[in-house]
Amino acid sequence: MTQRPNALPALAALTTPLLTWNEGAPHATAFDDVYFTRGDGRAETEHVFLGANHLPQRFAEWKAARPFVIGETGFGTGLNMLCAWACFEQHAAPNARLHLLSTEKFPLEPEALEQALSAWPSLAAYTQVLCAQWPAAVSGIHRLHLTERVTLDLHFGDTTERLEQLDGQVDAWFLDGFAPSKNPDMWQPALFNAMAARSRPGATFATFTCAGIVKRGLKAAGFSWKKVPGYGRKREMLAGSIETPPVDQRRQAMPWFTPPPVAAVKHVAIVGAGLAGSTMAAALARRGIQVTVVEREAPGAGGSGNRQGALYVKLAAETNHQSRVYLAGLLYSQRWLTQQLSTQPLSPPPLWQPCGVVQLASSDKEARRQQRFIEQHPLPSNVVTALNNPALSEAAAMPIDAPHGLFYPQAGWVQPKALCEHLLSQPGVTVQQGDVSSLTRTAAGWQLNLDDARTLNVDQVVIASAHLANRFAQTSELPLQSVRGQISEIKLPDGVAGPTRVICAGGYVAPALDGVLTFGASFIPNNATTDVTADDHQRNIDELRQMLPALVAELEKAGSELTPKHLQGRAAVRAASPDKTPYAGPVPAAEAWQADYARLAKDATRVPETPGEHHPGLWISTAHGSRGLASAPLCAEVIASRMCDEPMPLEAPLVDHLHPGRRIISAIIRTQ
Ligand code: SAM
Repeated sequence: MTQRPNALPALAALTTPLLTWNEGAPHATAFDDVYFTRGDGRAETEHVFLGANHLPQRFAEWKAARPFVIGETGFGTGLNMLCAWACFEQHAAPNARLHLLSTEKFPLEPEALEQALSAWPSLAAYTQVLCAQWPAAVSGIHRLHLTERVTLDLHFGDTTERLEQLDGQVDAWFLDGFAPSKNPDMWQPALFNAMAARSRPGATFATFTCAGIVKRGLKAAGFSWKKVPGYGRKREMLAGSIETPPVDQRRQAMPWFTPPPVAAVKHVAIVGAGLAGSTMAAALARRGIQVTVVEREAPGAGGSGNRQGALYVKLAAETNHQSRVYLAGLLYSQRWLTQQLSTQPLSPPPLWQPCGVVQLASSDKEARRQQRFIEQHPLPSNVVTALNNPALSEAAAMPIDAPHGLFYPQAGWVQPKALCEHLLSQPGVTVQQGDVSSLTRTAAGWQLNLDDARTLNVDQVVIASAHLANRFAQTSELPLQSVRGQISEIKLPDGVAGPTRVICAGGYVAPALDGVLTFGASFIPNNATTDVTADDHQRNIDELRQMLPALVAELEKAGSELTPKHLQGRAAVRAASPDKTPYAGPVPAAEAWQADYARLAKDATRVPETPGEHHPGLWISTAHGSRGLASAPLCAEVIASRMCDEPMPLEAPLVDHLHPGRRIISAIIRTQ
């Protein structure tokens, strides 16, 4: 049996290419080849990639609810993708959607990208959107929302490795990349096989080259091809299709994670209006789906209800699937918040402040952990850097006692409650107050039964009710832990400005909002109480004293009394899973899994062929702990993408890592 590759390629900071410029056209020194033809590059793209894939006609005829998906090898300057986007805008129906995905091992510096694309003034509006969201040069998938209906996934890393990790299917391929003679490492059989395995039946491809290795490789992978006229002086190029793509072998090793069959979806109910529910609502509304959010109290009434919340992550020293998910989540949230809130007025204070986050190493052990983390995570300085004092105090813009720390320059803080309200006020989203007590499967979908006897009928349901998410019969097998957290607030005395960055160690302190300093939060597992207690205030004060003694001294000198009775606060309950990874995905039919996979208890290598059974149309997003700002937006994309049959925003092993059924399988195997 073929084992599914569950290992991810190592995390890498990618090198940017060395370029020379020939009258505005970039040339890659390492490959001695051009990105596009000077002068008529756009016309060439339109002939080779758009025309030979018949995109104008296919866009005009596209009626499916799911987006049309284009896959490309070698994003380069993005000229091909921008041309495809422009062509889509010209030809597609207003409700059609487009999904672009492209690999790139040597991403351009942002300035070089802008310079290269300035050769095409007619694409200026598209260029501006792309450059505003251009991600850090970190391997992995970076999802960019170009417009409400056009999405671009940049798969940074080696093309073949990236396509092997892709969880999604492509309708049309742009087989680009430098010429086979200049870049022989890329044009290998494994590349064509990966393309074939991730093609929709009938998927087409086009490429500028007619090299023998390409013709043979495509044919062996199952594509048929023919020579068609090339552009300009190039006599010929290749175009073709694959009618019957090979079955995806990866599922055989872990059939339980096979996605549920795609079903029509027009109206979705979301249980819970915290960050998980609100980001889910926004992700579905963007896809044209009607959303009803049912909430017992009010948006952001639970763990997402604080005035301020810090967007940061604490990544494991050794990179593992969990820290890869959180890193991807951090990078996605930073970009998504900036883009989502770009039209927000600057005053009142913005909902998202990317002011930077300083993570102090408050002990030698933590300093060693951070050191290991930096060695294990080769991340560029616009994501994170390790700093020692005095650079640390400089980055923090205040005196710091701790000798070492990490600085995340693009992280920051959010107003979570206001963010939830903003997301829920979007067109297509309705909020209903009510307490959902049970869920009944109906012929057409699901009925939500509210405790006051009201009912709501929808096609599909997403449960996003934090620690209450396993109160339903269908989710009762998912272990969840309640974690109490209390924040403390104090008004800043005159003359004290407080920090300008988020500073964190055990807890965090954020820049003051309306003159009030927020710090905390306490973290008390197996506790679901929400009264504000003096004990928790004292914990937060002690933590603040240890973390920022200079700030505490300044506050006290200016007359602040840092004692529990002088503090305001708020306590809430967050949910955590036993392995501290969120649950995001379809809800497994637990009893069926226990029966279907029981034999793994005797021999974990005897994997049955049965695909995992799920409650059809039932999904869950919970267990975001105290890091929901980093995980909930990306998890919402994971669920919405699966529901709508789109490419996933995370590598296949990371999507599986979030699967709500993972504990059922590990529990069966553990009994071995
Ligand atoms: N499609 C591009 C455009 O519209 O500008 C032009 C692509 S350029 C000719 C080839 C691109 O493939 C370069 O950006 C190069 O860095 C990238 N590339 C080359 N080898 C690669 C590999 N093994 N994995 C991923 N990208 C690769």
